[in-house]
Parts: sequence; structure tokens; C-alpha cells
Amino acid sequence: MMKFVDLVEQHLDEIAALDALDVGKVLSQGKAREVPFGISVLRYYAGAADKIHGKTLKLANQLQGYTLYEPIGVVGHIIPWNFPVGMFLFKVGPSMAAGCTMVVKPAEQSPLSALYCAHLAKLAGVPDGVINVVTGYGPTAGAAISSHMDIDCVSFTGSSEVGRLIMQAAATSNLKSVSLELGGKSPLIVFDDVDVDSAVNLALMGGFANKGEYCVCSSRIFVQEGIYDEFVTKIARNSKGLTVGDPFEPSTVQGPQADKAQYEKVLSYIEHGKRQGATLLTGGNPCREKGYYIEPTIFTDVKDDMLIATDEIFGPVMCVIKFKTIEEAIARANSTRYGLAAGIVTKDLNIANTVSRSIRAGIVWINCYLAFDADCPYGGYKMSGFGREFGMEALYKYLQVKSVVTPVHNSPW
Ligand code: NAD
Repeated sequence: MMKFVDLVEQHLDEIAALDALDVGKVLSQGKAREVPFGISVLRYYAGAADKIHGKTLKLANQLQGYTLYEPIGVVGHIIPWNFPVGMFLFKVGPSMAAGCTMVVKPAEQSPLSALYCAHLAKLAGVPDGVINVVTGYGPTAGAAISSHMDIDCVSFTGSSEVGRLIMQAAATSNLKSVSLELGGKSPLIVFDDVDVDSAVNLALMGGFANKGEYCVCSSRIFVQEGIYDEFVTKIARNSKGLTVGDPFEPSTVQGPQADKAQYEKVLSYIEHGKRQGATLLTGGNPCREKGYYIEPTIFTDVKDDMLIATDEIFGPVMCVIKFKTIEEAIARANSTRYGLAAGIVTKDLNIANTVSRSIRAGIVWINCYLAFDADCPYGGYKMSGFGREFGMEALYKYLQVKSVVTPVHNSPW
């Protein structure tokens, strides 16, 4: 695994370029962030592979025992297109460290980096049959994995709709274990004791990173009334400074949406927002002559039941919403079927502690956003799924516990 990590690191530039070609990811960001983070995750699990221990058990009735952690078996990984190489490394790392073999199905939009990394694994000496990449469409190749009788576990990242199908297929086939990392509609709550300029920049980063094609993006920004007007003025101004363009250009901050379907879906949500009465503060239009480019788009005067406030848009569209009290912020932040991530911006420790414990989400960032680490578990509450990526939690998804029991004395029990 260590050799595999080194080879991925040596080919970082090519891997980032493949994802830029496939889905318009900004090359400089892939090189600086996504691929290095994927490498850190793979290296973390390479280091964990020889640190998987069971327990010794002192049992009643003159018995003793121990637990063995064994690979769960063949794992099926089904991954989306928004972080192609990232997802590949996040899933292959822990399952490989656990000793499993795997079938990986990358998204049909973005198979290249997974195929390339599997080739690097082969060069590193990973035996044939350990990492098997099967490209194809969801209803055929994906469904074959989730319904297969010889696959013991399926780890899926994608939409909540397909997540349901995966669970159904697991239930009606061999009851394989399932983990689901699904969609989100994550709140970022900005209290009025903060430096507004920094909060604005954090909101823009959280909302528009990876052109909003980010399951944890802060698509609902709750801003306390004391700073609301200043915040709105500044976020409108700063969002106009984000350069939308060719993902291979060093000055580009936001590339094109991944494909035509995604582009049309985002534009249709923008139309819904306008039609349902929200105020279009800035953006809202396609931009550049050719390609699936959309302006960074911000709505205000958004009601909690408008589609742009309830649905995962998966594009550069954010809602800025005014609130008065901490109780109101908690209730409205939680009034979503999702529970993936949340952010809090405040200098007040009491507020930070209260809100972080009250939000139903798998990760809460205080005075930061999108702060990931290989050692920090991450995953969903509610309809954002279950199971965790990263940390030792992800490793244990791919392990079975076997208890071995024997009498203490050498006599028939
Ligand atoms: P998607 O659910 O359409 O596809 C994801 C994967 O599932 C693809 O590989 C696809 O081919 C496969 N698939 C589709 N139909 C299938 C079926 N019937 N059976 C088995 N597999 C099938 O999602 P998408 O459009 O590729 O990705 C966007 C979604 O992913 C968003 O909702 C986003 O929030 C979510 N996402 C979640 C996380 C997270 O960590 N929670 C991370 C990234 C993306």
C-alpha cells in the first residue's frame, strides 16, 4: 500500500488533469487540494493496516475468549462524479487495509482517474483481483454490484434516490452490509459578533467550492439580523470577483458544471427560485459563450419551504437567510431531511458549543468550513445516509468481528 501511495503521489499532476478533462474540475485546485488529500487518506490507511487488533475477553463460567477482526469479504464501491479520484482513494484505502478485495464502479461521467489509479496499484505490486474497476452505467453495472450474491458489502456515495435502490437491492439479494454517503443541504450559521469580511469569504468558499458540486456545500447561509445588510452587500460584491472559466487556466476559481444534465438542472432551480418569489441578489445566468458555465448565484428573501431552500441543487447557488435568535437558527438549520454537515461562525464559545450539539449533522465546523482530515470521521445523519468515511470508523466498516471462546482449564466445559 505504501508503494501504491508513493506512485499516486508521483503521478499527482496527470491524475488531477484526468478529472479536469472528465468533469471540469479546476486543475490547480485538484493539484493543490483534492489529490493531495486523497493521498493523505490512502497513506493513513496504509499505516493502519498492521494496527488492527482484537480484544481478550475474561468471560463468566470459567471461559476465556478473544476477538479476531477479519476482512468482511468482497466489497462493492459505487462512486459519484464530483470527486472522482478523491472518492476512489477514500474507499479503496480502508477496504484494502482491512484485507478485502473489491469491485469499484466509478461514475459513468468520470472513469479515467479510477482506471489510472488501478493501473498504478498494479505497478506497485498489488495482486490482480484485489482492485477491480468496472466502468458502466448505474442501472446495469451499479445494480449488478448491489444485487450480487457474492459481494458482501456495498459502500455507496451518491444521491439519496439511488441510495434507496442500493438498500432495496441488498435486502432482496444476500442482505449484504450497506453504507450510504448521500446528499446534503448544509447550513452555515453566522452570528453577529463576527468579522463580516471573514465570514463572507468563508461562506463563498463553503457554498461555491467545486462549483457547488459538493455534497457538504453550505447552500443555506443563515445570517443574524445585526450584520445581515452588511453581509449581503459584501457577499454580492465578492462573488462577482470569482473567475469562472477554463479549468486548465491558473486564474480560474470555478469551472463548468460536470455535464449538460447537471447544467440544466441547476438553471431550472434558479428559475424555480425566481418564480417562487426569492430575490436574485447576484448571478443567475449561464456565462461564457461555450460550455456549461453558470455564474455564482445568490438568492435572498428565501422562505424555508421554497425548492431552492429544501433541495440539493449541486451547483453554484446559495440562499442567504436572515435570523434573529439562536433558537430560531437551530430550528431552521435542522428543518431539512438531510444531515451531512453544518458550520457555525461566532466568537462566543457558549453559542458554538450549544449550536454544535444541537445540529443533527455528521460534521460541524466552527469558524472554518470544508476542513477535512484523514483521521476525522465524516458521514450523514437522517437522509444523508449512514456509515462513516475516514478515521478508524471507515476501516471497521470493512471488518467482521469473530469471537473465539475456550474454557480456561483444560477440561470439557
Ligand atoms: P447518483 O446517485 O446518480 O450516482 C452515483 C453512482 O451510483 C454512480 O456511479 C452511478 O452510476 C451509480 N448508480 C446510479 N443508479 C444506480 C443503480 N440503480 N444502482 C446502482 N448504482 C447506481 O449520484 P451522482 O449524480 O453521480 O452524484 C451526485 C450525488 O452524490 C449528490 O446527491 C451528492 O450529494 C452525492 N454525494 C454525496 C457525497 C457524500 O459523501 N455524502 C459525496 C459526493 C456526492
